[in-house]
Amino acid sequence: MKFPAPARNLLIVLIVFLERILTRCMVSDSSNHEPPSSYTATRISSASTSIIGNTKPSDCSNSLASLDLHGSISLPGTAIASKDFGGIYHHKPVAIVHPGSVVDIAKVVSMVAASPNLTLAAMGNGHSINGQAQALNGLVLDMKSMRGIEIFHGSPTEGPYVDACGGELWIDVLKATLRVGLAPRSWTDYLPLSVGGTLSNGGVSGQTFKFGPQISNVLNLHVVTGKGESITCYPEKNQDLFYGALGGLGQFGIITKARIMLQRAPQMVRWIRVVYSDFEEFRTDQELLISLPEERTFDYIEGFVLTNNDDPINGWSSVLLSPSNSSFDFKLIPHTAGPMLYCLEVALHYDHTEDFIALNKRIEGMLAPLRFIRGLHYSFDLSYFDFLNRVHAAEVAARSSGIWDAPHPWLNLFVPKSKISEFDAKVFREILKDGVGGPILVYPVNRNKWDSRMSAIIPEEDTFYLVALLRFSPSYPSGPPFQSILAQNEEILHYCTTAGIDMKLYLPHYKTESDWKRHFGRKWQQFLQRKSTYDPKAILAPGQRIFCRSTDSTASTRLYSSS
Ligand SMILES: Cc1cc2nc3c(=O)[nH]c(=O)nc-3n(C[C@H](O)[C@H](O)[C@H](O)COP(=O)(O)OP(=O)(O)OC[C@H]3O[C@@H](n4cnc5c(N)ncnc54)[C@H](O)[C@@H]3O)c2cc1C
Repeated sequence: MKFPAPARNLLIVLIVFLERILTRCMVSDSSNHEPPSSYTATRISSASTSIIGNTKPSDCSNSLASLDLHGSISLPGTAIASKDFGGIYHHKPVAIVHPGSVVDIAKVVSMVAASPNLTLAAMGNGHSINGQAQALNGLVLDMKSMRGIEIFHGSPTEGPYVDACGGELWIDVLKATLRVGLAPRSWTDYLPLSVGGTLSNGGVSGQTFKFGPQISNVLNLHVVTGKGESITCYPEKNQDLFYGALGGLGQFGIITKARIMLQRAPQMVRWIRVVYSDFEEFRTDQELLISLPEERTFDYIEGFVLTNNDDPINGWSSVLLSPSNSSFDFKLIPHTAGPMLYCLEVALHYDHTEDFIALNKRIEGMLAPLRFIRGLHYSFDLSYFDFLNRVHAAEVAARSSGIWDAPHPWLNLFVPKSKISEFDAKVFREILKDGVGGPILVYPVNRNKWDSRMSAIIPEEDTFYLVALLRFSPSYPSGPPFQSILAQNEEILHYCTTAGIDMKLYLPHYKTESDWKRHFGRKWQQFLQRKSTYDPKAILAPGQRIFCRSTDSTASTRLYSSS
């Protein structure tokens, strides 16, 4: 219903007043707890406007209410924005804004910047591990309300592309583009992640060796900076913001739209796993495959580590691809094998029209020089969509067992090639010899597919490995104590430091200024410069814990100096 302006203002004041009375009775702690479930969350479509009610929100309620947004504002019920996939941090915002347009976002950013101490976090699909999309006592922008996908076939020289809003999920981008026989080139393993969220980090998977991370496949970005300016940026124009926002941890602006390269989508995929007992053979084969010319290698190359036993989660059965791959013949494993085995995972695209004999011959030719254990070779044919969406089945199973909602202290690292064997000996074969209750990914990527002007931080070497400890243990006491898992992560990081392994955290999470400085290395000054240019009051993405909100309207950033 639309109200005339005076009546609307009166309504706003009334709502705000009622909300305050209600929430004063109900809210105890603004940082952690959801109000009792009997209390219905207020989410008022702001054709008529908005809301507030909490201990802190009263400070900004009038400002929010006066914004006259196309979208809406939720409050209370903000505890939902204090949860993420990691389940480790629970920082509750004072309000969640569901923007209805870029103008809404610019208005909210300007309002937050004009306030004395508010911060603002864009939340994609809340799949961060360490509270990166949270804003304690600040505002959260629910980017899922910013949807829209438009596909362009492009000219013969520029090729096809898609314009996707920042809150779109990659699964929906895939579905939309497949309808016209196209698809993005570079993926994440799991698809219900937001475009703005992965572009703020990197976006890596088995195609990264070939096309680079998702951030290397962007043609332009629409960004609302921390000053409330709405800017379209390209590699040629406003390039500092373009490269800054890519892998920029949400520090310089809100990505409202991205133009992403597309390619013709294949119809089918041959998905293959082969097993190694020797790490050196495994990794040199991986390195060989990522170095070959396109036509002589696979379209997807990953790998993972498994325990050399019958553990149902971490062991032999984790290699099997389908019910038709019903057994793992452990008798084929050489007696010299250690506590861990290594599985190379590759995939090749093809179409229904493909000559199967030729396809099989081509694959045999590509596998022939590899040194995996003969007989431990599994393959499965499936549609391109089902291949890209392959983690969905694991998600369904984990949700039904409750493990999806347990805490996930994941650790993601980029380890330089020159140190990966040392890393294997100490970390995989010693510290993690019992597995992590989920996949341990390890696969190499080529540095030349990453543009060094982007904010993303990677090791200096030409080839480096993604190592991902994707822990899926049930909550204690069914699983190990949470503190012991965190301690194991710390042990790995400590080992890297003492062994002089110049690894970089992917999806970084640090607590001190010196850690962040070390992480960014020679790009630290550029990062600071970009922050003071695009978000001088440090209002954006406070959950990354890199900068402190500046209270002085003229000051640039002030850093956290301790945890
Ligand atoms: C099950 C699972 C599987 C995963 N698999 C992969 C994988 O294969 N490869 C990979 O690279 N990563 C993977 N990830 C990590 C994923 O890329 C990150 O979690 C990332 O943060 C995206 O999640 P999100 O869209 O929910 O973003 P959020 O967690 O909501 O946000 C992440 C950060 O980006 C900021 N942000 C969000 N949207 C915007 C925006 N529009 N503009 C500016 N800043 C924004 C947030 O403020 C926050 O700081 C996986 C995560 C999970 C939980």
